[in-house]
Amino acid sequence: MKRVFSGVKPTGHLTLGNYLGALRQWAEVDQHRADSLFCVVDLHALTVDHDPARVRRLSRQAATLLLASGLDPQLCTVFVQSHVDEHARLSYLLECVATDGEMRRMIQYKEKAARERERGGSVRLSLLTYPVLMAADILAYATHEVPVGDDQAQHVELARDLAVRFNQRYGHTFVVPKATLPTVAARVMNLQEPASKMGKSDDFGPGIVYLLDEPDVVRKKMMRAVTDSGREVVYDRVGRPGVANLLEILAACTGGDPAALGAGYSSYGALKKDAADAVVAVLEPLQARHRELCADPGYVERVLRDGAGKARHMARPVVDRAYRAIGL
Ligand code: ADP
Repeated sequence: MKRVFSGVKPTGHLTLGNYLGALRQWAEVDQHRADSLFCVVDLHALTVDHDPARVRRLSRQAATLLLASGLDPQLCTVFVQSHVDEHARLSYLLECVATDGEMRRMIQYKEKAARERERGGSVRLSLLTYPVLMAADILAYATHEVPVGDDQAQHVELARDLAVRFNQRYGHTFVVPKATLPTVAARVMNLQEPASKMGKSDDFGPGIVYLLDEPDVVRKKMMRAVTDSGREVVYDRVGRPGVANLLEILAACTGGDPAALGAGYSSYGALKKDAADAVVAVLEPLQARHRELCADPGYVERVLRDGAGKARHMARPVVDRAYRAIGL
């Protein structure tokens, strides 16, 4: 059976982008077809300025939202990264295989480091090495497939390169993983800044739909989405990114193809209204499950404890083998 691994960072409240680009695929497809692990990658939340209590609170919230999105602990393993030491153990070995040039070429690093410097802050070394820890997350579980949004494809590619390099130098140790991307909404864009992705850690609040936004808040954000001065509803990601984003969101929520859906609209207003309704309909059941789970914190606690136990059991032999192979 295929092994699938993926994760979400507790650096902010989870967004519609996280759901359409990743979580929904995990819940509706991956957990049913593969031996799968889904992780709240809390160590990754320490790569930027952070507040300890907030990280802890957001980790718990992210784990609860994974379950509310439909992940079933009977079908898959849900856990928190820092509960399993193997991630950090393996990361160091992979740092001895990766090069600094390779790290500095990572697009997300370049963007985030530039933003941090613009703010006058310093860049944590862990921001540079973050993709190596992510490679360790993936390789520790002998993962075949990593379902992610488009923004993470380059990091999965690095995990592939490191696995191949390690295997060539030290003997076959790791499964070589590959990324799997959703066919629609692989990159949901910010509603106010359609040139940037809808990222939970970004600063454009009104352009981000959060999974726990109330329906009227979702509607307001969707109706205020930036479009362009045209009138015709056509799907053109380059020329009309705002409209294309709304069509992608609508298509991802209702099924269908963004270009074909576009042909059915004669105004941006009607498109926005339908897209808003579709998002509200997708979020309602998720929010209802979230409320139930919040009423039973002991359950979430147990799921995470059992999940960490199972994950440790899977990762330990792989990481031990890597230690032996590299000469320790
Ligand atoms: P964020 O950028 O919101 O901090 P994470 O790094 O925690 O997201 O990513 C969790 C998953 O959600 C990843 O698979 C990522 O590719 C996906 N994802 C994040 N933002 C988007 C987006 N705007 N559109 C599609 N997928 C996304």
